[in-house]
Amino acid sequence: MDALYRRCHEIEAQGLSEAVQEGQGLIEQISGLKYELTHDRALAPLHVTDATPRLSSQWPVPSTAAYDDIIAAAKPTWHQYEWLFTECYLYRRLRLLFETSTHWKSYDPFGDTKARAFRASAAGVHACATWWAELQTAASRVTAAQPGASRLFSEVVCTSLWGNATDLSLLTQADYEHLQSLQSTPQDDRLMKLDHVLVNDMPTLWNRLRTLKRGRIDLVLDNSGFELVTDLLLADFLLSLRTPIPVAPKTRAAELRSRIEGVRTRIQTACDRAQVAVPPRLLAVSKLHPPSDVMAAYEATGQRHFGENYVQELVDKANALPEDIQWHFIGGLQSNKAKLLAAVPNLYAVESLDSEKLALGLQKAIAKPENASLRTQPLYVYVQVNTSQEEGKSGLAAMTQPWKQDEERPPLMALAQKIMLSCPHLRLRGLMTIGALANSRAAHDDTQNPDFASLVESRRHLVDALKRDAEFQNKLRATTWWTPQGSQPDAYGELSERCLELSMGMSADLEAAIAMGSSNVRIGSDCFGSRSSNSDAAQVREAELKEYEGVPLVDTVVFHTKNMPWFVSVGFVAHLRTQRSRTLQRPSPSLRLAISSLRPTRRRR
Ligand SMILES: *Cc1c(COP(=O)(O)O)cnc(C)c1O
Repeated sequence: MDALYRRCHEIEAQGLSEAVQEGQGLIEQISGLKYELTHDRALAPLHVTDATPRLSSQWPVPSTAAYDDIIAAAKPTWHQYEWLFTECYLYRRLRLLFETSTHWKSYDPFGDTKARAFRASAAGVHACATWWAELQTAASRVTAAQPGASRLFSEVVCTSLWGNATDLSLLTQADYEHLQSLQSTPQDDRLMKLDHVLVNDMPTLWNRLRTLKRGRIDLVLDNSGFELVTDLLLADFLLSLRTPIPVAPKTRAAELRSRIEGVRTRIQTACDRAQVAVPPRLLAVSKLHPPSDVMAAYEATGQRHFGENYVQELVDKANALPEDIQWHFIGGLQSNKAKLLAAVPNLYAVESLDSEKLALGLQKAIAKPENASLRTQPLYVYVQVNTSQEEGKSGLAAMTQPWKQDEERPPLMALAQKIMLSCPHLRLRGLMTIGALANSRAAHDDTQNPDFASLVESRRHLVDALKRDAEFQNKLRATTWWTPQGSQPDAYGELSERCLELSMGMSADLEAAIAMGSSNVRIGSDCFGSRSSNSDAAQVREAELKEYEGVPLVDTVVFHTKNMPWFVSVGFVAHLRTQRSRTLQRPSPSLRLAISSLRPTRRRR
C-alpha cells in the first residue's frame, strides 16, 4: 500500500485528481481485503465473466472460473484452507481491483520491489552464469548414460529451486545481504541442502526424464528476477540432454563381460609366468563393433582404453560415447585425415605413425587452439615398425644394427627425432608392430616370435642411437614442449629403454608378447568376438550412431506463469525449442535469446 500512496502523491502533483480519487478507493478496498484476511472470513467468489475487462495481451492471465468452483464447493476461509490456494486467490483479488479500474489497469504495485530485488541479486546472477558457463564446457556431451549426468541434473534443479528460496515472500526476515549469500552459495553447498528436503522426488524425475525422446517439459514460473534466470538455466540444461547410446542386450553385455575378464585373466597369468611386475595396458580393439558394445564394456568392466582402425568410425563413436574413454587410433592413416582425428579431444594415442608428413600434419592440427584447448594431455604417438618386412604392410624398417655416427640416420631414428624436436604437441610414446600372421600362428616358444624380437631390438638400437647423437641431444635440450593448461609439464626425461613402450600382441599372441616385454596389448576378437565387415554389421553400427546423434531427450520447454498475476512481470511465457549444436563452446542460442528478452521492466509514466 505504501507504493500505492506514493504513486497517488506523484499523480496528485500532476493534477490528475480523478486518478487520485480512484487510487484512494483502491487503498480502501485493499484495507478491506486485509481485514477479511486477518479475521479469517470466508473467501468471496470472484465473479469474473468474459466481459470483465482484462489486459490479457499484456499480462497473460489464466481463467478464474476454477476459483469460484472451488469456493462454492469447499467454502474455504482465509486460514482454513490450502495455503497455496489462498495465496493465489489473494493476488487474484488484488489484481482484479486494478484490472477493473480506469486509471490503474497496468499499475504493478510490486514493480519497485521487484526491480530492486533483481538489481540486488546481480551477484547471484553473475555467480550462476559463471558456474553454468563452466558446466557447459564440462557437460558438452551430456548423455543420460554418463555417470555424472544424474548428479548434474540435481545440481541444476537445486540451483533453480534455490532461486525460489530467495523469494521475498518466503524469507520476509532476510535482508539483502542474506539473500546475496544464499544466491551465490557454491554448488556443493546447494547440494548439501538436500539433507533438509523432506520429500525429494528428483531420482523419480530423473528416471522419467531419461526415457524421453524429443519430449516436452512444462515449467511453472514462480517469480521474475533471479528465479527466472535460474529457471532459464534449468530449461537450457534440459534441452542439452541427449538420448543415451542404445544399450546392448543383457546377454550380450554378459558375454562381453566374461570375454574381457577372461582376457584380463590371461594377461595376469602370462605376467605371472614371465615374472613381469607391471602388466601391459589392455587396449580393447572395438573396430567394426557397434557403440553399444563399447558402452557395455565401459559399464560392465570399467574398460577405458579402446582402439579403432577407421578414422570416421572413431570420430563417430567418440562423439557418441563418454568423454573419459581414451581412444587409440591403430589403423592406416592418410595425412589428409589427421584433421578429423585431431578434433577428438579424448584421442589418447595414434599408434600407427609411419611418416614425417603424418607427424607434422597431426602436430599442426592438434596445435589449433580449438583442438588444443579441449585436450587434457599431449597426443601420444607410437611409430609403427614393419618388423615382418611384408610388402603392403605399413611401418618403417626395423633397426637391426647399431647406428654409426658417420652414417645417415635410419628412417626410424629420423622420425623419432622429428617428433621429439618439431612436434611440441605430440609425445613419442613407443614403437608398435602388427607382425606377420604366420609368425603368431607358428608354434613358437614364448620368446621366439621374430616380430616381437625385432621390435625389442629396434627399441634398443633406437635409444642407444638417440643417446649417442650429440647434435640431436643439443637440440633436445633447447626444445620446449606443449602441456595442456593446468596439467603437470611432462616432457622427455632421461632417455632409456624404459621410456619407450612396445605395443605388440593381439588376441592370438598376447602371451608371447608379454613374455617379450609388451607394454600395450591390442585385443580385438577375444574381447568382442569375431567381427564382420559386411554391410549388415555396418548398418547396425550406423543405425545406432544415427539414433544417438539426432535425438534430444527434451526438445521443447514451455514456461507458464503461475496463476498469480504480476508474478512474472516481464510477461514471459515462452516456448524454447532447440536444435542445439552439440559442441557447446558457443553459448547456447536459446539461453542468449531468452536472457536478452529479460530486461527488468520499469514502468514510469
Ligand atoms: C584389429 C587389430 C587388432 C586386434 O586384433 P585381434 O586379432 O582381433 O585381437 C590389433 N592391432 C591392430 C593394428 C588391428 O588392426
